[in-house]
Amino acid sequence: MNESAINGGSLVDAHCHLDLYSDLERIVSETEAKHIYTIAVTNAPSVFFHTAEFTAGRKYVRPALGLHPELVSSHGHELSHMRDLLKETRYVGEVGLDYQTSDLGLRKAQREVLSCILEWCADYGDKILTLHSRRAASDVTAMVGDGFPGKAILHWFSGSRKELDQASRIGLYFSVNPAMMRSEKGRSLVTLMPSDRVLTETDGPFVKIGKRLAEPADVQDVVKELASIWNLPVERARERVLKNFGTMLR
Ligand code: MN
Repeated sequence: MNESAINGGSLVDAHCHLDLYSDLERIVSETEAKHIYTIAVTNAPSVFFHTAEFTAGRKYVRPALGLHPELVSSHGHELSHMRDLLKETRYVGEVGLDYQTSDLGLRKAQREVLSCILEWCADYGDKILTLHSRRAASDVTAMVGDGFPGKAILHWFSGSRKELDQASRIGLYFSVNPAMMRSEKGRSLVTLMPSDRVLTETDGPFVKIGKRLAEPADVQDVVKELASIWNLPVERARERVLKNFGTMLR
């Protein structure tokens, strides 16, 4: 994706599980037609090929290779497969840590998996990671570290202000979604994020808009909320998010 491609885009969905929709062909076509840059994340290496297939030849929808932290016990054995597949795409996610579990052994297993993935990604130097960090933002930030050669996005950040500062200091990006904008805590965190490192996402289909599943076009609503938080016209907020995405890719 070069800079002229960014100029052709309209919006950004930096984290969407397109492979989990029953009508994914329609959504992919509409997302392309609306020029929405979309990182199509996956939860396990074994399902990556499906997403690689339906994103092949697309300009705006990009496949990401992932291993979700909550699937480490069931799919951790696919880690070596992940290493082989990393050459297939620049985008990596959903990966990260989830400390919802109180099982310390499981948390440790998640860290071991993430540590391998980060090490392999660092060897490439230009990977874009979309990271899950529920109750684990400090550890995720510390593991990515200050000198990571690539870019990392904390998706649906829900940590503390202190954790947000730590992540900001080392240059991490934040992708924010409609559910965060609906919560008071989420909104207050967004106001504290450096505006040049904010991206939009849906995390569909896990996020809903009323009774329906969120899809990439719904990032327009997030842009409207950002415009109000940043005190900018909606069009300027949209351009800012697009610019942030372009800067991240360079
Ligand atoms: Mn997700």
